[in-house]
Amino acid sequence: MNAEIIAVGSELLLGQIANTNAQFISKQLAELGVNVFYHTAVGDNHNRLEQVIKIAESRSDLLIFTGGLGPTKDDLTKETIAKHMGLELVFDKEALESIKEYFIKTNRKMTENNKKQALVLDGCKVLSNNHGMAPGMFLTKNNCHYMLLPGPPSEMQPMFATYGISALQEKLTNKEVILSRVLRFFGIGESLLETKIEDLIDAQANPTIAPLAGDGEVTLRITSKTDSMETAEELIQETEQKILERVGEYFYGYDDTTLVQELVRKLKEKELTVAAAESLTGGMFQQELTSVAGAGSIFKGGVVCYTNEVKRDILSVKESTIKEMGVVSEQCAKELAENVQKLLNSDIGISFTGVAGPDELEGHPAGTVYLGIAVKGKATAVEKLMLAGTREGNRKRTVRYGQYFILK
Ligand code: ATP
Ligand code: MG
Repeated sequence: MNAEIIAVGSELLLGQIANTNAQFISKQLAELGVNVFYHTAVGDNHNRLEQVIKIAESRSDLLIFTGGLGPTKDDLTKETIAKHMGLELVFDKEALESIKEYFIKTNRKMTENNKKQALVLDGCKVLSNNHGMAPGMFLTKNNCHYMLLPGPPSEMQPMFATYGISALQEKLTNKEVILSRVLRFFGIGESLLETKIEDLIDAQANPTIAPLAGDGEVTLRITSKTDSMETAEELIQETEQKILERVGEYFYGYDDTTLVQELVRKLKEKELTVAAAESLTGGMFQQELTSVAGAGSIFKGGVVCYTNEVKRDILSVKESTIKEMGVVSEQCAKELAENVQKLLNSDIGISFTGVAGPDELEGHPAGTVYLGIAVKGKATAVEKLMLAGTREGNRKRTVRYGQYFILK
């Protein structure tokens, strides 16, 4: 089965919203082993939508539409499909009942155009909408399958996952499974990582290995295509193991995991708390940490020590350190980390001091950063970074490195 996802809505073409529906459906179809060859987006326009349907029918045998099932004039997906196929639109009793019920419950008057939402393509399988009013539809005609889903992701996603997939499964003849796993790395460049696993990439067939770079991270996507979930799992596992034997020290998590989520998880597991002293990052490390639900049990608090006075008066950095070595120094990072750890009585103290840019500071070029990590009962470690990004980029990268150094 070759699928085409057709998103209907002028707001997509105007750039007001991103086509996340296509992304969601594609991911689900991949797991079912259905190839997706095209994503199409078209405005709320009868003629152009019909044009798109004709093209899609000529090259795909599963057409999945999202959007345009609502009550307003610009919602014309099912009307256009009905006209194109020469089908009537008929009232679905159940959908009509639930729309009426909704209006009684909310004490509002139902207007005629609301009833329109209960109209479905004659002879289709109705996909119930448990999160809104417009039902979805599934229909097969001339060896082509048509699925109509509502636009709002909060309605579309549960409808597709609950009713859409089972409607498709009845039609699937081949049982091919495509399974993907993403491995996430930090602290290694894309080219170095590729060099280390070059022979694996060259020899790949099934699974395939695809590197992707972004925001200081490198990810590898391993994809396996087989006839069963178990075999796909096994093949991916094997390849993953080979990769991690080479570059496992840079690996930090799977799929959508972020460094900071992984950091919170690890600290919780080890029952350790952290406190931060932030100069150039101005609280960004703490902001990211507290964006993770449940960070309360591992994060004590911190000090944004942007000025020298705060470094000296609140975090007790020695006057001589500031005068003789400067605040962009290994010694300053060390004192900040140790002192914030003591001040807030945490297990780990981390410090960030350096030059975000664009101007230099104390004779150090932009991007010079010292990260201190003080762990109770251990010698304090300081890492020096030489970053080459913009001011914002350097600050973000510094926070990432901080998260990574605690993790390791
Ligand atoms: P409604 O009954 O809410 O009008 P509908 O099925 O008619 O639903 P649309 O009017 O096309 O759908 O879109 C409603 C909303 O759903 C949009 O404003 C947008 O927020 C969201 N939406 C629509 N299409 C997509 C898409 N492809 N990706 C993500 N969000 C979408
Ligand atoms: Mg609408």
